[in-house]
Amino acid sequence: MKEKLLEVKSLKKLFPVKPGFFFKAKDYVHAVDGISLSVKPGHTLGLVGESGCGKTTTGKTILKLIEPTDGQIFFKGENITGHNRGEMKKVRRQMQMIFQDPFSSLNPRHTIGSILASPFRIHGLADNKNMEDKIAGLLKKVGLSPEAMRRYPHEFSGGQRQRVGIARALALYPELIIADEPVSALDVSIQAQIINLMKDLQEELGLAYIIIAHDLSIISHISDEIAVMYLGKIVEKASSTDLYAEPLHPYSRALISAVPVPDPEFKKKRVILKGDVPSPINPPLGCRFNPRCPYRFEPCDKKEPSLKPVGKENRLVACHLEF
Ligand code: SF4
Repeated sequence: MKEKLLEVKSLKKLFPVKPGFFFKAKDYVHAVDGISLSVKPGHTLGLVGESGCGKTTTGKTILKLIEPTDGQIFFKGENITGHNRGEMKKVRRQMQMIFQDPFSSLNPRHTIGSILASPFRIHGLADNKNMEDKIAGLLKKVGLSPEAMRRYPHEFSGGQRQRVGIARALALYPELIIADEPVSALDVSIQAQIINLMKDLQEELGLAYIIIAHDLSIISHISDEIAVMYLGKIVEKASSTDLYAEPLHPYSRALISAVPVPDPEFKKKRVILKGDVPSPINPPLGCRFNPRCPYRFEPCDKKEPSLKPVGKENRLVACHLEF
């Protein structure tokens, strides 16, 4: 079994809610509330859930773009939880992020060449002589012509801009890329192209990914493992194949039932969830999903279910039901 590239233990991120600038926080938004996960080299973990469930905060906290409130983050066996900015600079070369919105993540006043040169400059990895070759190589890797380096972001389509975003993340030969909704701002016809590009790059460069998405259909065929998040917690973790074939947690069942099937003859029973996601400031007692769960029974609003192994190896579910 391969070593873990990334391991996250009981990660928490609480944001204080203050009634005013000079007041102390009375409440906290429980954005990420004690999640544990790991990623092996060259593997993909999909992180799915409705918006507001804490997926993006999880990604940013792992990269320490946001400081964690509690828990531990290990990268290649090194505990990076308490690393300062200088120490993180070295680690960040190996951990990069792709952002959701290719329109706002690229500075419109800079050429693509200047945008792609900045990681090399920040880390002192290329001089002006070999910079053009490095940038041309990156553009080729993501399927763009080297002459794109002289143009500006507004001259490109959404899909092409996301290719530039991917090229920027690849510049420093990272081992892990956290991609936050990498295709949700793009046309459906372009989404598959970008996912396929990410898959090809993974095979070529041995990259590991954490792909954050609200739509399971987007990530199911690229992910080895999927973690389903609800209100700051992981409620189910399983291989992509197992989760897709037989989701166990009632929330995972509802998510999977919403994935369209490309067969007009196939009748799928859609599970419609009632109500909205409750406030992360005062999450429900017991199981956080209990106000919306169609299977809710006696202990659900009193006792919080822990994430425990069910059936096959590596499958974890947080639910009081027997599986
Ligand atoms: Fe539903 Fe109870 Fe399971 Fe929560 S613990 S998902 S409320 S059955």
